[in-house]
Amino acid sequence: MAEPIVPLESLLKEARAAFQAEFGRPPPLAACAPGRVNLIGEHTDYNDGLVFPMALPLVTVVVGGPSASGQCHVTTLAAGADQPLSVQFAPPSAAAPLTPGPPAWSNYVKGVVANFKGGVEPFEAVLTSTVPLGAGLSSSASLEVALYTFLEALTGRAAESLREKALQCQKAEHEFPGMPCGIMDQFISAMGQADNALLIDCRSLESTLVPLADHQISVLITNSNVRHALTGSEYPSRRRACHETARLLGVKALRDASMALLDERKADISEEDFRRARHVVTEIARTEAAATAFADGDYATAGRLMNESHASLRNDFEVSCAELDQLQELASSVDGVFGSRMTGGGFGGCTVTLLKQTSVEACIARMREGFSGKATFYVCRPADGARVVPT
Ligand code: ADP
Ligand code: MG
Repeated sequence: MAEPIVPLESLLKEARAAFQAEFGRPPPLAACAPGRVNLIGEHTDYNDGLVFPMALPLVTVVVGGPSASGQCHVTTLAAGADQPLSVQFAPPSAAAPLTPGPPAWSNYVKGVVANFKGGVEPFEAVLTSTVPLGAGLSSSASLEVALYTFLEALTGRAAESLREKALQCQKAEHEFPGMPCGIMDQFISAMGQADNALLIDCRSLESTLVPLADHQISVLITNSNVRHALTGSEYPSRRRACHETARLLGVKALRDASMALLDERKADISEEDFRRARHVVTEIARTEAAATAFADGDYATAGRLMNESHASLRNDFEVSCAELDQLQELASSVDGVFGSRMTGGGFGGCTVTLLKQTSVEACIARMREGFSGKATFYVCRPADGARVVPT
């Protein structure tokens, strides 16, 4: 059995009750924003490439209202966040800007407050989420975008566009938690629409909704619940390899390279860097092809591209791990599965599987039985992006 998807109404109820208990009145405002899963297009964002995520029915909810205390007072109900679960700080001003500091989770909040256009007035809020923290389903962006949406309602000042809002939230994550993330997570959390995935061009920042509305098709997310400790050099070294190969090929980014060009210069590139670049060049092409296949309802092709993406991440980019490989293999051996791949940065986290709705239970059973660890499953359909919700 997959994890039950907690309905938004239940989550709101929990947040409202906690707000009432802490602040002695019902919250006048509420907003929510979703987590996401990337269907295909991994490690392409920092190469000016394409990514193809969908928003999840797993969401972060923020409830609250103005405060007479002169402070911004925020409490999280997330058990996985570091202590203390409640923070207070003065609204930032030019003379006294906000600065990052412990607890770690509060930096996602402060980053958004600091980057909210035109500043905020004192407020009090409670946040809660069904997006698992740190599992690669983007609990961080869902928090940022939900809080930004809440602040829009609080101040009556909306961002110029959803793109602007997503970029402010990305900036928040760069500046306060200090995570140099790409644009995917905040874009899909702000712009997702039910029954659609979103093809995002990380160079032009243009995005295109692609229908994924066939109810006979399911997306199964499997959280391996492992996260391998990294030395810290894995991502920077891959980024550097990609950027160096692009320079050597004489192109602005690997987005502009073809396999023909890469093959032509093979002798000038180390064997490892060649494989890193081959992953990126082929992954961008696969992502474009997969978006077309999804749009055509050609799930067999989309699934094959997902399997190829996994093989490329495992063999060429070397960011998979034994657990993700095992889950991918188990899933792709099940009847009615079109394709499966690791999703997210790698070295742990989740896989995403595209399959017939009638095969979901068999696929979960096979993965549970054959997996060496303990996995968690979510069956999802593409959900809506951030929005204000009635309290
Ligand atoms: P992911 O975005 O894949 O879940 P990240 O490492 O980018 O993983 O972000 C996880 C961090 O975001 C958490 O460790 C926590 O600091 C913060 N966070 C996310 N959701 C919440 C929440 N509901 N309450 C408090 N902190 C949160
Ligand atoms: Mg994140």
